[in-house]
Amino acid sequence: MLIANKKVAIIGGGPGGLTLAKLLVMNGVDAIVYERDTDRNARVQGSPLDMHDESGLAALRKAGLLEEFKHNYMVGADRMQIMNENAEIFYSNHEHKALENFGAADFRPEIDRGVLRKILLNSLPESRVMWDHHFISMQQEGEGWCVQFKNGKTAYADLVIVADGANSKIRTYVTDYKAFYSGITMLEGSIHNAKNTAPTISKLLKGGKIMAFGNNKNILMGQKANDEIGFYASMRVDENWSTENKLNYNDNAQLLEWFRLTYPEWSTIWHELIANTQSFVPRPIYCIPFDQEWETKNNLTLIGDAAHVMPPFAGEGVNMAMLDALELSQNLISDTCSNSKEAIEHYEIKMRKRASEVAQESLENGNKMHSINALETMLTFFKNH
Ligand SMILES: Cc1cc2nc3c(=O)[nH]c(=O)nc-3n(C[C@H](O)[C@H](O)[C@H](O)COP(=O)(O)OP(=O)(O)OC[C@H]3O[C@@H](n4cnc5c(N)ncnc54)[C@H](O)[C@@H]3O)c2cc1C
Repeated sequence: MLIANKKVAIIGGGPGGLTLAKLLVMNGVDAIVYERDTDRNARVQGSPLDMHDESGLAALRKAGLLEEFKHNYMVGADRMQIMNENAEIFYSNHEHKALENFGAADFRPEIDRGVLRKILLNSLPESRVMWDHHFISMQQEGEGWCVQFKNGKTAYADLVIVADGANSKIRTYVTDYKAFYSGITMLEGSIHNAKNTAPTISKLLKGGKIMAFGNNKNILMGQKANDEIGFYASMRVDENWSTENKLNYNDNAQLLEWFRLTYPEWSTIWHELIANTQSFVPRPIYCIPFDQEWETKNNLTLIGDAAHVMPPFAGEGVNMAMLDALELSQNLISDTCSNSKEAIEHYEIKMRKRASEVAQESLENGNKMHSINALETMLTFFKNH
Protein backbone atom coordinates (compact mmCIF):
# COMPACT_ATOMS: atom_id res chain seq x y z
CA MET A 1 0.00 0.00 0.00
CA LEU A 2 1.29 3.44 -1.02
CA ILE A 3 0.60 5.09 2.31
CA ALA A 4 1.50 2.26 4.69
CA ASN A 5 3.18 3.73 7.80
CA LYS A 6 2.17 7.28 6.83
CA LYS A 7 0.17 9.61 9.06
CA VAL A 8 -2.86 11.12 7.32
CA ALA A 9 -4.63 14.22 8.69
CA ILE A 10 -8.14 14.88 7.37
CA ILE A 11 -9.26 18.41 8.23
CA GLY A 12 -13.05 18.55 8.60
CA GLY A 13 -15.52 15.93 9.79
CA GLY A 14 -18.36 16.51 7.31
CA PRO A 15 -19.65 13.68 5.08
CA GLY A 16 -16.59 13.94 2.81
CA GLY A 17 -13.95 13.82 5.56
CA LEU A 18 -15.66 11.10 7.60
CA THR A 19 -16.27 8.86 4.56
CA LEU A 20 -12.63 9.18 3.62
CA ALA A 21 -11.54 8.39 7.19
CA LYS A 22 -13.70 5.27 7.23
CA LEU A 23 -12.40 4.04 3.86
CA LEU A 24 -8.78 4.59 4.90
CA VAL A 25 -8.98 3.31 8.49
CA MET A 26 -10.77 0.08 7.45
CA ASN A 27 -7.80 -0.58 5.18
CA GLY A 28 -5.26 -0.11 7.97
CA VAL A 29 -4.26 3.52 7.29
CA ASP A 30 -3.27 5.73 10.22
CA ALA A 31 -5.79 8.50 9.45
CA ILE A 32 -7.21 11.04 11.92
CA VAL A 33 -10.02 13.55 11.38
CA TYR A 34 -9.55 16.98 12.98
CA GLU A 35 -12.92 18.70 13.41
CA ARG A 36 -13.63 22.19 14.81
CA ASP A 37 -16.99 21.24 16.41
CA THR A 38 -16.50 20.68 20.13
CA ASP A 39 -18.22 17.28 20.07
CA ARG A 40 -20.49 15.12 17.90
CA ASN A 41 -23.65 16.89 19.18
CA ALA A 42 -22.30 20.43 18.98
CA ARG A 43 -24.20 21.62 15.93
CA VAL A 44 -27.65 21.06 14.54
CA GLN A 45 -27.23 19.51 11.10
CA GLY A 46 -29.15 21.04 8.16
CA SER A 47 -31.59 19.69 5.60
CA PRO A 48 -31.75 16.04 4.46
CA LEU A 49 -29.60 14.74 1.63
CA ASP A 50 -30.60 12.51 -1.26
CA MET A 51 -28.01 9.86 -1.96
CA HIS A 52 -27.18 8.75 -5.49
CA ASP A 53 -26.39 5.16 -6.41
CA GLU A 54 -23.25 5.83 -8.43
CA SER A 55 -21.63 8.18 -5.88
CA GLY A 56 -22.85 8.62 -2.27
CA LEU A 57 -24.32 5.11 -2.05
CA ALA A 58 -21.31 3.62 -3.89
CA ALA A 59 -19.04 5.06 -1.18
CA LEU A 60 -21.26 3.71 1.60
CA ARG A 61 -21.35 0.31 -0.11
CA LYS A 62 -17.54 0.23 -0.25
CA ALA A 63 -17.39 1.29 3.40
CA GLY A 64 -19.67 -1.63 4.36
CA LEU A 65 -22.32 0.81 5.59
CA LEU A 66 -25.12 0.26 3.08
CA GLU A 67 -27.15 -1.98 5.40
CA GLU A 68 -26.85 0.62 8.18
CA PHE A 69 -28.00 3.25 5.68
CA LYS A 70 -31.00 1.08 4.73
CA HIS A 71 -32.04 0.93 8.39
CA ASN A 72 -31.85 4.70 8.73
CA TYR A 73 -32.98 6.40 5.53
CA MET A 74 -36.33 8.20 5.50
CA VAL A 75 -38.64 5.87 3.61
CA GLY A 76 -40.82 7.83 1.16
CA ALA A 77 -39.09 11.17 1.81
CA ASP A 78 -37.86 11.21 -1.80
CA ARG A 79 -41.42 11.39 -3.12
CA MET A 80 -42.03 14.70 -4.77
CA GLN A 81 -44.78 17.17 -5.59
CA ILE A 82 -44.48 20.22 -7.81
CA MET A 83 -46.82 23.11 -7.11
CA ASN A 84 -47.47 26.69 -8.03
CA GLU A 85 -47.62 29.66 -5.65
CA ASN A 86 -51.21 28.72 -4.71
CA ALA A 87 -50.18 25.22 -3.64
CA GLU A 88 -52.00 23.67 -6.62
CA ILE A 89 -50.38 20.34 -7.45
CA PHE A 90 -49.14 19.91 -11.03
CA TYR A 91 -47.00 16.81 -10.55
CA SER A 92 -46.76 14.12 -7.90
CA ASN A 93 -45.02 10.74 -7.84
CA HIS A 94 -46.45 9.73 -4.45
CA GLU A 95 -48.69 7.11 -6.02
CA HIS A 96 -46.17 5.29 -8.21
CA LYS A 97 -42.64 5.79 -6.82
CA ALA A 98 -41.24 2.67 -5.15
CA LEU A 99 -40.41 3.04 -1.46
CA GLU A 100 -37.28 0.94 -1.85
CA ASN A 101 -35.38 0.33 -5.07
CA PHE A 102 -31.70 0.19 -4.13
CA GLY A 103 -29.43 -0.29 -7.13
CA ALA A 104 -31.66 1.73 -9.51
CA ALA A 105 -30.09 4.97 -10.76
CA ASP A 106 -33.30 6.95 -10.22
CA PHE A 107 -33.79 5.79 -6.63
CA ARG A 108 -32.37 8.59 -4.49
CA PRO A 109 -33.21 7.84 -0.86
CA GLU A 110 -33.15 10.75 1.58
CA ILE A 111 -31.27 10.69 4.85
CA ASP A 112 -31.11 13.22 7.64
CA ARG A 113 -27.68 14.87 7.70
CA GLY A 114 -27.28 14.26 11.43
CA VAL A 115 -28.13 10.59 10.99
CA LEU A 116 -25.63 10.17 8.15
CA ARG A 117 -22.95 11.80 10.29
CA LYS A 118 -23.80 9.47 13.16
CA ILE A 119 -23.56 6.37 10.93
CA LEU A 120 -20.11 7.43 9.76
CA LEU A 121 -18.93 8.41 13.26
CA ASN A 122 -20.18 5.16 14.82
CA SER A 123 -18.24 3.19 12.22
CA LEU A 124 -14.94 4.75 13.30
CA PRO A 125 -12.98 4.11 16.50
CA GLU A 126 -13.43 7.18 18.76
CA SER A 127 -9.69 7.85 18.70
CA ARG A 128 -9.92 8.58 14.95
CA VAL A 129 -11.89 11.83 15.37
CA MET A 130 -10.32 14.70 17.29
CA TRP A 131 -13.08 17.17 18.28
CA ASP A 132 -12.43 20.82 19.11
CA HIS A 133 -9.50 20.90 16.69
CA HIS A 134 -10.04 24.04 14.64
CA PHE A 135 -7.31 24.25 12.00
CA ILE A 136 -5.58 27.63 11.89
CA SER A 137 -2.38 27.05 9.87
CA MET A 138 0.28 24.55 8.81
CA GLN A 139 3.94 24.60 7.89
CA GLN A 140 5.99 22.18 5.88
CA GLU A 141 8.01 19.91 8.20
CA GLY A 142 10.38 17.48 6.50
CA GLU A 143 8.34 15.51 3.95
CA GLY A 144 5.05 16.37 5.67
CA TRP A 145 3.18 19.09 7.57
CA CYS A 146 3.01 20.44 11.10
CA VAL A 147 -0.62 21.45 11.61
CA GLN A 148 -1.65 24.05 14.24
CA PHE A 149 -5.04 24.24 15.90
CA LYS A 150 -6.88 27.01 17.76
CA ASN A 151 -6.72 24.99 21.00
CA GLY A 152 -2.91 25.37 20.99
CA LYS A 153 -2.22 21.78 19.95
CA THR A 154 -0.18 20.70 16.93
CA ALA A 155 -0.06 17.48 14.92
CA TYR A 156 2.37 16.08 12.38
CA ALA A 157 1.03 14.46 9.18
CA ASP A 158 2.77 13.02 6.13
CA LEU A 159 -0.34 13.73 4.09
CA VAL A 160 -3.03 16.39 4.69
CA ILE A 161 -6.47 16.08 3.12
CA VAL A 162 -8.55 19.22 3.24
CA ALA A 163 -12.29 18.61 3.78
CA ASP A 164 -13.33 21.81 5.55
CA GLY A 165 -16.32 22.60 3.35
CA ALA A 166 -17.62 25.45 1.19
CA ASN A 167 -15.93 28.29 3.10
CA SER A 168 -12.61 26.46 3.23
CA LYS A 169 -9.79 28.49 4.72
CA ILE A 170 -7.26 25.78 3.85
CA ARG A 171 -7.98 25.64 0.10
CA THR A 172 -5.46 28.50 -0.42
CA TYR A 173 -2.59 26.10 0.38
CA VAL A 174 -3.53 24.30 -2.86
CA THR A 175 -5.13 26.85 -5.18
CA ASP A 176 -6.13 30.51 -5.15
CA TYR A 177 -9.39 30.07 -7.07
CA LYS A 178 -12.42 31.93 -5.80
CA ALA A 179 -15.98 30.62 -5.98
CA PHE A 180 -18.44 33.06 -7.62
CA TYR A 181 -21.89 34.05 -6.36
CA SER A 182 -24.65 32.22 -8.29
CA GLY A 183 -27.14 35.10 -8.01
CA ILE A 184 -29.34 33.03 -5.69
CA THR A 185 -29.76 33.16 -1.92
CA MET A 186 -31.72 30.58 0.04
CA LEU A 187 -33.32 31.53 3.33
CA GLU A 188 -33.35 28.36 5.41
CA GLY A 189 -35.94 27.61 8.07
CA SER A 190 -37.00 24.60 10.06
CA ILE A 191 -40.23 23.66 11.83
CA HIS A 192 -40.25 21.37 14.85
CA ASN A 193 -43.16 19.15 15.83
CA ALA A 194 -44.64 19.96 12.42
CA LYS A 195 -47.87 17.94 12.70
CA ASN A 196 -48.98 20.22 15.53
CA THR A 197 -47.29 23.52 14.72
CA ALA A 198 -47.85 23.55 10.94
CA PRO A 199 -50.68 21.03 10.33
CA THR A 200 -51.73 22.34 6.90
CA ILE A 201 -48.22 22.32 5.50
CA SER A 202 -47.48 18.98 7.15
CA LYS A 203 -50.51 17.42 5.44
CA LEU A 204 -49.56 18.99 2.11
CA LEU A 205 -46.00 17.64 2.36
CA LYS A 206 -47.10 14.02 3.01
CA GLY A 207 -43.66 13.11 4.37
CA GLY A 208 -41.96 13.86 1.04
CA LYS A 209 -40.67 16.91 -0.80
CA ILE A 210 -42.33 19.94 -2.36
CA MET A 211 -41.00 22.32 -4.97
CA ALA A 212 -43.24 25.34 -5.41
CA PHE A 213 -42.59 27.91 -8.15
CA GLY A 214 -44.03 31.34 -8.77
CA ASN A 215 -42.73 34.61 -10.21
CA ASN A 216 -38.98 33.92 -10.18
CA LYS A 217 -39.10 32.68 -6.60
CA ASN A 218 -39.57 29.35 -5.05
CA ILE A 219 -40.06 27.38 -1.88
CA LEU A 220 -38.29 24.05 -1.54
CA MET A 221 -39.35 21.87 1.33
CA GLY A 222 -38.61 18.43 2.70
CA GLN A 223 -39.48 16.10 5.54
CA LYS A 224 -36.75 15.72 8.17
CA ALA A 225 -36.42 13.19 10.97
CA ASN A 226 -38.40 13.58 14.23
CA ASP A 227 -41.39 15.32 12.62
CA GLU A 228 -39.31 18.29 11.51
CA ILE A 229 -39.81 20.09 8.20
CA GLY A 230 -36.90 21.88 6.56
CA PHE A 231 -37.51 24.52 3.92
CA TYR A 232 -35.86 27.20 1.85
CA ALA A 233 -37.37 30.38 0.46
CA SER A 234 -35.10 30.70 -2.54
CA MET A 235 -34.75 33.81 -4.70
CA ARG A 236 -32.55 35.97 -6.86
CA VAL A 237 -31.03 38.78 -4.80
CA ASP A 238 -27.71 40.66 -4.64
CA GLU A 239 -24.77 38.88 -3.11
CA ASN A 240 -24.82 41.08 0.02
CA TRP A 241 -28.58 40.91 0.51
CA SER A 242 -28.33 38.74 3.62
CA THR A 243 -26.08 41.20 5.49
CA GLU A 244 -27.56 44.44 4.18
CA ASN A 245 -31.33 43.82 4.43
CA LYS A 246 -31.59 44.75 8.15
CA LEU A 247 -33.80 41.72 8.87
CA ASN A 248 -33.55 40.15 12.29
CA TYR A 249 -33.42 36.43 11.45
CA ASN A 250 -34.64 35.51 14.94
CA ASP A 251 -37.81 37.57 14.65
CA ASN A 252 -40.35 35.49 12.78
CA ALA A 253 -43.06 38.19 12.91
CA GLN A 254 -40.66 40.43 11.00
CA LEU A 255 -39.82 37.62 8.60
CA LEU A 256 -43.52 36.96 7.99
CA GLU A 257 -43.98 40.61 7.07
CA TRP A 258 -40.98 40.37 4.77
CA PHE A 259 -42.48 37.24 3.14
CA ARG A 260 -45.85 38.96 2.53
CA LEU A 261 -44.04 41.81 0.78
CA THR A 262 -41.54 39.68 -1.15
CA TYR A 263 -43.87 36.86 -2.17
CA PRO A 264 -47.04 38.97 -2.67
CA GLU A 265 -48.59 36.63 -5.26
CA TRP A 266 -48.17 33.59 -3.02
CA SER A 267 -51.09 32.04 -1.14
CA THR A 268 -51.36 32.57 2.62
CA ILE A 269 -51.03 28.75 2.98
CA TRP A 270 -47.27 29.25 3.00
CA HIS A 271 -47.44 31.72 5.89
CA GLU A 272 -47.72 28.80 8.31
CA LEU A 273 -44.15 27.91 7.43
CA ILE A 274 -42.69 31.32 8.14
CA ALA A 275 -44.84 32.02 11.20
CA ASN A 276 -43.68 28.84 12.96
CA THR A 277 -39.96 29.04 12.31
CA GLN A 278 -37.90 30.30 15.23
CA SER A 279 -34.79 31.37 13.40
CA PHE A 280 -33.72 31.64 9.79
CA VAL A 281 -30.31 31.20 8.19
CA PRO A 282 -29.57 33.00 4.93
CA ARG A 283 -27.39 30.97 2.54
CA PRO A 284 -25.93 32.82 -0.44
CA ILE A 285 -25.14 30.12 -3.00
CA TYR A 286 -21.65 29.94 -4.56
CA CYS A 287 -20.12 27.92 -7.38
CA ILE A 288 -16.60 26.98 -8.50
CA PRO A 289 -15.23 28.31 -11.77
CA PHE A 290 -15.55 25.53 -14.34
CA ASP A 291 -11.97 25.67 -15.60
CA GLN A 292 -10.00 25.11 -12.40
CA GLU A 293 -6.44 23.81 -12.68
CA TRP A 294 -3.70 23.61 -10.09
CA GLU A 295 -0.34 21.96 -9.73
CA THR A 296 -0.57 18.74 -7.74
CA LYS A 297 1.24 18.77 -4.39
CA ASN A 298 3.12 15.76 -3.00
CA ASN A 299 1.34 15.59 0.30
CA LEU A 300 -1.79 17.73 0.18
CA THR A 301 -5.14 17.66 -1.61
CA LEU A 302 -8.79 18.76 -1.40
CA ILE A 303 -12.07 16.85 -1.28
CA GLY A 304 -15.76 17.82 -1.14
CA ASP A 305 -16.98 21.40 -1.04
CA ALA A 306 -13.46 22.60 -0.27
CA ALA A 307 -12.57 21.45 -3.79
CA HIS A 308 -15.82 22.16 -5.61
CA VAL A 309 -18.58 24.08 -3.88
CA MET A 310 -21.63 24.14 -6.16
CA PRO A 311 -25.30 25.17 -5.99
CA PRO A 312 -27.54 22.48 -4.45
CA PHE A 313 -29.98 22.36 -7.39
CA ALA A 314 -28.94 18.93 -8.64
CA GLY A 315 -28.54 17.43 -5.14
CA GLU A 316 -24.95 16.51 -6.01
CA GLY A 317 -22.75 18.27 -3.39
CA VAL A 318 -22.62 15.56 -0.78
CA ASN A 319 -22.57 12.83 -3.40
CA MET A 320 -19.53 14.38 -5.06
CA ALA A 321 -17.83 14.74 -1.65
CA MET A 322 -18.36 11.04 -0.90
CA LEU A 323 -17.26 9.98 -4.39
CA ASP A 324 -14.08 12.05 -3.91
CA ALA A 325 -13.48 10.08 -0.71
CA LEU A 326 -14.03 6.79 -2.55
CA GLU A 327 -11.80 7.57 -5.52
CA LEU A 328 -9.00 9.17 -3.50
CA SER A 329 -8.93 6.34 -0.95
CA GLN A 330 -8.74 3.73 -3.72
CA ASN A 331 -5.79 5.51 -5.34
CA LEU A 332 -4.00 5.83 -2.00
CA ILE A 333 -4.46 2.27 -0.77
CA SER A 334 -3.76 0.45 -4.02
CA ASP A 335 -0.37 0.02 -5.61
CA THR A 336 -1.39 1.10 -9.10
CA CYS A 337 0.40 4.46 -8.76
CA SER A 338 4.10 4.64 -8.01
CA ASN A 339 3.91 7.33 -5.31
CA SER A 340 1.37 9.42 -3.41
CA LYS A 341 1.84 12.46 -5.66
CA GLU A 342 0.84 10.37 -8.68
CA ALA A 343 -2.13 8.93 -6.76
CA ILE A 344 -3.28 12.45 -5.84
CA GLU A 345 -2.75 13.72 -9.39
CA HIS A 346 -4.87 10.94 -10.93
CA TYR A 347 -7.60 11.66 -8.40
CA GLU A 348 -7.50 15.44 -8.94
CA ILE A 349 -7.66 15.29 -12.75
CA LYS A 350 -10.73 13.04 -12.67
CA MET A 351 -12.36 14.91 -9.78
CA ARG A 352 -11.99 18.38 -11.37
CA LYS A 353 -13.53 17.20 -14.67
CA ARG A 354 -16.47 15.45 -13.02
CA ALA A 355 -17.09 18.27 -10.51
CA SER A 356 -16.98 20.90 -13.23
CA GLU A 357 -19.64 19.06 -15.28
CA VAL A 358 -21.89 18.58 -12.29
CA ALA A 359 -21.40 22.17 -11.08
CA GLN A 360 -22.47 23.48 -14.50
CA GLU A 361 -25.57 21.31 -14.41
CA SER A 362 -26.35 22.49 -10.87
CA LEU A 363 -25.98 26.15 -11.85
CA GLU A 364 -28.17 25.67 -14.95
CA ASN A 365 -30.83 23.94 -12.84
CA GLY A 366 -30.71 26.89 -10.42
CA ASN A 367 -31.24 29.32 -13.29
CA LYS A 368 -34.19 27.29 -14.60
CA MET A 369 -35.72 27.03 -11.13
CA HIS A 370 -35.55 30.79 -10.64
CA SER A 371 -36.87 31.83 -14.06
CA ILE A 372 -40.30 33.14 -14.93
CA ASN A 373 -41.06 29.79 -16.65
CA ALA A 374 -39.79 27.69 -13.76
CA LEU A 375 -43.00 25.74 -13.22
CA GLU A 376 -43.36 24.67 -16.89
CA THR A 377 -39.64 23.90 -17.21
CA MET A 378 -39.52 21.77 -14.08
CA LEU A 379 -42.72 19.94 -15.02
CA THR A 380 -41.24 19.02 -18.40
CA PHE A 381 -38.02 17.92 -16.69
CA PHE A 382 -39.76 15.64 -14.17
CA LYS A 383 -42.22 14.20 -16.67
CA ASN A 384 -39.32 13.28 -18.99
CA HIS A 385 -37.43 11.55 -16.21
C1 LIG B 1 -28.70 25.38 1.37
C2 LIG B 1 -27.96 24.14 0.95
C3 LIG B 1 -28.66 22.99 0.61
C4 LIG B 1 -27.97 21.84 0.19
N1 LIG B 1 -28.68 20.75 -0.18
C5 LIG B 1 -28.02 19.66 -0.65
C6 LIG B 1 -28.72 18.50 -1.11
O1 LIG B 1 -29.94 18.43 -1.08
N2 LIG B 1 -28.00 17.45 -1.59
C7 LIG B 1 -26.62 17.49 -1.64
O2 LIG B 1 -26.00 16.53 -2.11
N3 LIG B 1 -25.94 18.55 -1.20
C8 LIG B 1 -26.59 19.64 -0.71
N4 LIG B 1 -25.89 20.72 -0.28
C9 LIG B 1 -24.42 20.66 -0.33
C10 LIG B 1 -23.86 19.80 0.79
O3 LIG B 1 -24.27 20.31 2.03
C11 LIG B 1 -22.34 19.80 0.71
O4 LIG B 1 -21.94 19.53 -0.61
C12 LIG B 1 -21.71 18.76 1.63
O5 LIG B 1 -22.06 19.01 2.98
C13 LIG B 1 -20.20 18.79 1.46
O6 LIG B 1 -19.58 17.94 2.37
P1 LIG B 1 -18.11 18.26 2.91
O7 LIG B 1 -17.76 17.14 3.82
O8 LIG B 1 -17.23 18.56 1.76
O9 LIG B 1 -18.24 19.64 3.70
P2 LIG B 1 -19.12 20.03 4.97
O10 LIG B 1 -20.33 19.23 5.07
O11 LIG B 1 -19.27 21.52 4.90
O12 LIG B 1 -18.19 19.66 6.19
C14 LIG B 1 -17.04 20.40 6.50
C15 LIG B 1 -16.62 20.09 7.93
O13 LIG B 1 -15.38 20.78 8.19
C16 LIG B 1 -15.44 21.39 9.47
N5 LIG B 1 -14.52 22.54 9.44
C17 LIG B 1 -14.66 23.70 8.77
N6 LIG B 1 -13.60 24.49 8.98
C18 LIG B 1 -12.75 23.81 9.78
C19 LIG B 1 -11.49 24.11 10.34
N7 LIG B 1 -10.87 25.28 10.13
N8 LIG B 1 -10.89 23.18 11.13
C20 LIG B 1 -11.51 21.98 11.38
N9 LIG B 1 -12.72 21.66 10.88
C21 LIG B 1 -13.32 22.56 10.09
C22 LIG B 1 -16.91 21.80 9.61
O14 LIG B 1 -17.27 22.01 10.97
C23 LIG B 1 -17.62 20.61 8.97
O15 LIG B 1 -17.89 19.59 9.90
C24 LIG B 1 -26.56 21.86 0.15
C25 LIG B 1 -25.84 23.01 0.52
C26 LIG B 1 -26.54 24.14 0.92
C27 LIG B 1 -25.77 25.38 1.28
